[in-house]
Amino acid sequence: MKNKKIFGKNFYQKPASAKKFFVTGGAGFIGGHLVERLLEGNSVTVYDNLSSGRKEFLEKCDGKKNFSFVKADLLDFSRLQQEMKGHDFVWHLSANPDILAGMGNPELDLKQGTIASFNVLEAMRLNNVKQIAFSSTSAVYGEPTVFPTPENYGPMQPISFYAASKLASEALITAYAHNFGWRSWIFRFANIVGRRATHGVIFDFIEKLKKNRDELLVLGNGKQKKSYVYADELIDAMLFAVESSREQVNLFNIASKDNISVKEIAEIVLKKAGLSKTKIKYTGTERGWPGDVTFMNLDASQLGKLGWNARLSSRQAVERTVVELLKELDFK
Ligand code: NAD
Repeated sequence: MKNKKIFGKNFYQKPASAKKFFVTGGAGFIGGHLVERLLEGNSVTVYDNLSSGRKEFLEKCDGKKNFSFVKADLLDFSRLQQEMKGHDFVWHLSANPDILAGMGNPELDLKQGTIASFNVLEAMRLNNVKQIAFSSTSAVYGEPTVFPTPENYGPMQPISFYAASKLASEALITAYAHNFGWRSWIFRFANIVGRRATHGVIFDFIEKLKKNRDELLVLGNGKQKKSYVYADELIDAMLFAVESSREQVNLFNIASKDNISVKEIAEIVLKKAGLSKTKIKYTGTERGWPGDVTFMNLDASQLGKLGWNARLSSRQAVERTVVELLKELDFK
């Protein structure tokens, strides 16, 4: 397996019986990595409208007899219900990736987040599917006062519509799990980086530098500090958690122990791109944008107690990704 080579030990033990996975958002940045791994011994259907996902992220899966792809929208409920038939486990990864866009249009995250999640859960109920894993975010904590922030922190007061829709989706999942005896895994991700990223700070910096090498404009004052996890490690963590946890609702932060500032990331990008003369300019505000959480330090010890810890620090995850994206995005 790929992660054996990268990280030494493979955490994921294949379940005794193969599963039929249904993956929403499976053509996305994270979805593509997950689906490649799930296909090792299981069958997988990806349901994705390709709004931000790309079919080429699944090219290694195409043609395999245990893989199928459905191009459709989660808001098309009758299609969703029909396509989910016969599956026994849902990975719900789809979401609006553009947190900034939600600011100007709050309905976006209501529909692409909360309503889409409700449709997934209803389709599960009608198809008698009883297991769901969900990609939530550390942004659900809003601006916590406890660091590192544990899963049982409260009160939860999200400051973006994106995070509000994630928290609403989490609540719907726990209610469905309770009422219908399902099992669920809710993962609150730190920032995820790695090959094939199509958004996020590293991607943005490289795209900006492709257009202007003289100056790099950073949103905010550069002091925003967050935890970064390499995508392959995230997949390890989720697969490990699904196999290792036994509760009805299993809730985990997934993060590295440390964090790194936006300023440091900008400096890494310039160094790896060989740009010693580029000036870094800051918009100067405390936040990059109104829903931007400026400090993230998550307590991932729940997963640690079960036996999983991130091996790469935030800096290592960022450095590795910068090298990969400079190549992928054809920075010359
Ligand atoms: P992504 O945009 O690459 O993937 C989302 C996928 O969902 C895309 O393939 C898109 O086409 C699909 N999609 C969106 N709306 C849809 C709809 N209505 N119907 C069907 N498909 C739809 O984003 P990603 O970075 O891979 O994120 C995956 C999940 O992880 C998301 O739920 C995201 O909120 C969550 N997450 C990501 C990060 C991160 O740093 N990347 C951090 C925290 C949480």
